[in-house]
Amino acid sequence: MLYQRSSALFKDAKTVIPGGVNSPVRAFNAVGGTPIFAKSAKGAYVYDEDGNRFIDYINSWGPMLLGHAFPPVVDAVIEKAKLGTSFGMPTALETEIAELAVSMVPNVDKIRFVNSGTEACMSAIRLARGYTKKDKIIKFSGCYHGHSDSFLIAAGSGAVTFGTPNSPGVTQGTAKDTLLARYNDIENVKELVEANKGEVAAIIIEPVAGNMGCIPPIEGFLEGLRTVCDANDILLIFDEVMTGFRLAKGGVQELKGINADIVCFGKVVGGGLPVGAFAARNEIMDYLAPLGPVYQAGTLSGNPLAMAAGLAMLKAVHSDKGLMNRLEEKTKYLHQGMADALNKNNVTHTINRIGSMISVHFAEEAVVDFESAAKGNNETFKKFFHGMLDEGIYIAPSAFETWFITDALTYEDLNETIAAVERIAKTL
Ligand SMILES: *Cc1c(COP(=O)(O)O)cnc(C)c1O
Repeated sequence: MLYQRSSALFKDAKTVIPGGVNSPVRAFNAVGGTPIFAKSAKGAYVYDEDGNRFIDYINSWGPMLLGHAFPPVVDAVIEKAKLGTSFGMPTALETEIAELAVSMVPNVDKIRFVNSGTEACMSAIRLARGYTKKDKIIKFSGCYHGHSDSFLIAAGSGAVTFGTPNSPGVTQGTAKDTLLARYNDIENVKELVEANKGEVAAIIIEPVAGNMGCIPPIEGFLEGLRTVCDANDILLIFDEVMTGFRLAKGGVQELKGINADIVCFGKVVGGGLPVGAFAARNEIMDYLAPLGPVYQAGTLSGNPLAMAAGLAMLKAVHSDKGLMNRLEEKTKYLHQGMADALNKNNVTHTINRIGSMISVHFAEEAVVDFESAAKGNNETFKKFFHGMLDEGIYIAPSAFETWFITDALTYEDLNETIAAVERIAKTL
């Protein structure tokens, strides 16, 4: 494939935008090469500036559960735009989407809309600290909760008590309040809580991890977290920015039957427009301004175009009884096909899958946490990535990302993908 125009556009972009991109993973740093500049997208496909067509497994990193340019979302945005794009006043639409979201998500009474997943997680943590009157939080190595200071803490080796910032600009003062635990390791969490008795406000987790590849929780892990939180007056925060309205209509809370105290949303909830949200029971949500003391605000929060897109999306997800099953069946089919293709060619790999999330790791052992995910062969992944790209299949440019299956993908698309994997497997 030719990427002439993308290369030229990237060159121009780099002169006025740091690294040529507005979000770092888009820059292909982990896999090498030049990023592809998108021109348009429809259904399962994205088209670049050179006129190439790709079967898309990134789907804007999650939001496009029903495919690109989903007509009800596009129509809703166009209609709303004609009525004005922002008011800074409450609208009926905000109540409508809030009612629908609250009815779909278990264990929450109220929801507040913000502009991104980052904002949702950042606000959830402030709310948890204000509500519990404690400062520390526990997060898990390899889980991503957006780019706010408290979450940009890297894993040290072994069990680390105090996080060290992995981005300059995050102060030691902030980092010391973020404790790091190993995903799927409840004993590690208990140790941290014990060592910081009475100081932990919240445990925040991706209840199905999606930012170190796809890593489902092992049996009993989320239940264990719930028990530890209940015993220590700690709030359990499910960051469902990726999984919300995707793995089930009510997210992982519904899928696994575990209640969180605060739930964060993003991606699907905005239907492709910049939306995030966080939700909880009344007693917690009423701690927020203007009712309570915890301040949180946003000039464009609840923006009518964003809410129109989100509402159209949630309505579609809510009303389509067969959706989750269809998505899971497609993902299972792709899993089986790719596993066969890789096995036939003796390519060492592990595939993780749950619902419409799937990831291929070129690793020998089971991938259950960040450490095991990091053992994947990155050179093999790079070859695989570029091979797929040349076959017209767009997967995330990093071995630590999940692929997203959309309802727009046909079995023909999946077969085309599997055939490409088979051809590339011979070269790995
Ligand atoms: C994408 C993501 C975020 C951050 O959302 P943004 O909209 O990119 O700020 C937070 N948490 C999880 C689990 C995510 O996948």
